[in-house]
Parts: sequence; structure tokens; C-alpha cells
Amino acid sequence: MKKIIELLQTQSKILTEEMLRSAPFAPQRPHVVILGAGASKAAMPTGDKFGKSIPLMDDLPEILGKEWDGLIKDAKPPKGNFESTFSWLRKEGNSSSKLSEIEKILEAYFTGLSLPDYPTIYDYLVLGLRGKDIIATFNWDPFLMQAHKRNGGVVELPDIRFLHGCVVFHTCNEHDILGGPFEKCPQCHKALQRGCLFYPDENKDYTKDALIKRDWDRVTKTLEDAFHLTIFGYSGPATDYNARKLILDGWCKTPMRDFSHVEIIERDGKEQEEIRKCWKEYIPFHHDMIFSSFWNSSIARWPRRTSEWKYSASLYGLPAENLGPFKTDSLQELQEWFSKLGEVEDNK
Ligand SMILES: [Zn+2]
Repeated sequence: MKKIIELLQTQSKILTEEMLRSAPFAPQRPHVVILGAGASKAAMPTGDKFGKSIPLMDDLPEILGKEWDGLIKDAKPPKGNFESTFSWLRKEGNSSSKLSEIEKILEAYFTGLSLPDYPTIYDYLVLGLRGKDIIATFNWDPFLMQAHKRNGGVVELPDIRFLHGCVVFHTCNEHDILGGPFEKCPQCHKALQRGCLFYPDENKDYTKDALIKRDWDRVTKTLEDAFHLTIFGYSGPATDYNARKLILDGWCKTPMRDFSHVEIIERDGKEQEEIRKCWKEYIPFHHDMIFSSFWNSSIARWPRRTSEWKYSASLYGLPAENLGPFKTDSLQELQEWFSKLGEVEDNK
């Protein structure tokens, strides 16, 4: 650890001097991470703390069981995936009361999920980024929030945002607060409310709900200034046209576009060319890194230093020695390791 810290201090000094001459403030620019259901699945492939499975969108009918089967049998929607079927049922299926039941079952299932006691990818994600960075998730599950909470105070953590709502995220309508159930707003002292969940819809309008819009606005604004974009476990389907457009609109505006890299973490089995084609407007200069495992990503290999690493790689073509991942089964050990990295940041 001592050797790594010395190395970082030397690297930081050289980079800071060069940076001020050529690309001002690049290492201070944000790293934006977008998470989809594949990230939760990769974090807990065998299930959560209690062995409950982590579903992808098309696994949801299995969780809903006979309630969903009964609804499909009665309403007879056209053939399609879960999202298109859900969307049709809401608009044309005359099934609003039954859909409310379905929503309650989904909400209860996701609320009951919990991170295992040992460190997961979620812990490496929140500890591996800094206060300038942002993690935005499409997932309703509580994992990002739980990881943020249990690692609070270890180091300065990134901002976290919920693009489709989250079963445990509570906030204030007037103030942009990250909180949980039974907490009060530190500014107006009103009880925090849970925002709504954004249920599957083929025509996604993120302006309909003020709290979801607030999180989207924060993410797109941060993208306008970002140096680095990681998309993890989110396939960006064509039906997510509005989500894809919002991310792209922000990302196109960053002044770092000439240097910018996109990092995509997708499960094994998907062809790299297919992934590249799906995200081609996001990768204008073929600066991409596609991995099938989080452990090869920049966040795992250069935790809390992704911008410094990228800056050095982009500007000088300098390879950097891996800083991580520090693998351990003990959350306390992991937090101690990150806490030492944080000390170097405080002293810089
Ligand atoms: Zn308030």
C-alpha cells in the first residue's frame, strides 16, 4: 500500500503540472456510470443475502407467477416481451386494478432484496468512485442505496441517482435529498417521501414525475461535463429511445469529447461488434473498452483514480500499473483499504 501511495503522489504531481498547461481540470471531471439490471445480476449471480434471485426484465413473469399468468389469460395481449406486454395492458388492456396488484407484488419482491454481508460489486462501485462522480441506475432494487449507506463515512462517495425510481429511495419534494424511510429533510424537516417507481413502458416520458425528472436532469447535466462514461449491464434497447437520447444529448456536450472513452460492461455471450453498433453514436472516435466482467473495468483496476488514469492514457499513451481490485471477503478490510486511498486524496 505504501508503495502504491508513493506512486500515486508522484503521478498526481506530474499530471497536475501537465494538466494545468494542456487540458484544464480534466482529472477533476466526473465519471458517470449507468447501471442496468445486468449489473445487479453480475453482483449477485447466485442471489441476494437470502438467496432470492436477481431478475432481469424478462424474468419478472416468473416472479409474478400465477397473478401474471391469470392476467395474460384474461386480457390476451399481443405477443411480446414483458415491457411491451405491460405497456399494452396499461393502455389497452382494461386491467388497471389487476396491474396495481402486479405492481404491489413487484415492489414487495424488490423491497425484500438485500446485499449479502460480504463485499459485492456494488461496494466496489460506490467506494471506487469519488464525490465528483455519479452512479445512475435503472434498477428498482435497493442495492445501490444499501451499498451507499453501509460505506458512508469511509471515503467521500459518489452521488447516486435513480432513473426509474427505487424501492428504498426517499427524498423531499422541495429539496434534493438522498434519504431512506422514516427520515426527515434536513432543510425543511418534513418527512421524506418515497418517489414513485417508473413501470415498464414502451413510450417513456421522464418528465411526468417531478422526482424522476430531477434525477435525470442531474445525470444529464453531469454528463455535459464528464470525462468518462461507463455503461454496466444495460443493453440500451431500441424501446428505451428517450433514455438513450437523454444520455447521448448530455454526453455530446462535454468539452472532453475528443478524449472521451466509453466503457461498456456486458455479460458474456454478446458479440463486441453488436455492442459497438448499439452504442456507436456514443463512441465517436472508436475510443471504447468492452468487457464481460466488472473486474476488468477501470473502476476495478484504478479505483478512485479513473480520471487520472484516463488522462495519463489519453494524453501520453502511458500505461498505468493496476491499483486494484483489492479482493477480500471482509467488508471491513475493503473499507480500510479504501480509507487509505482516501487519505491521499485529503492530503493532495
Ligand atoms: Zn425539504
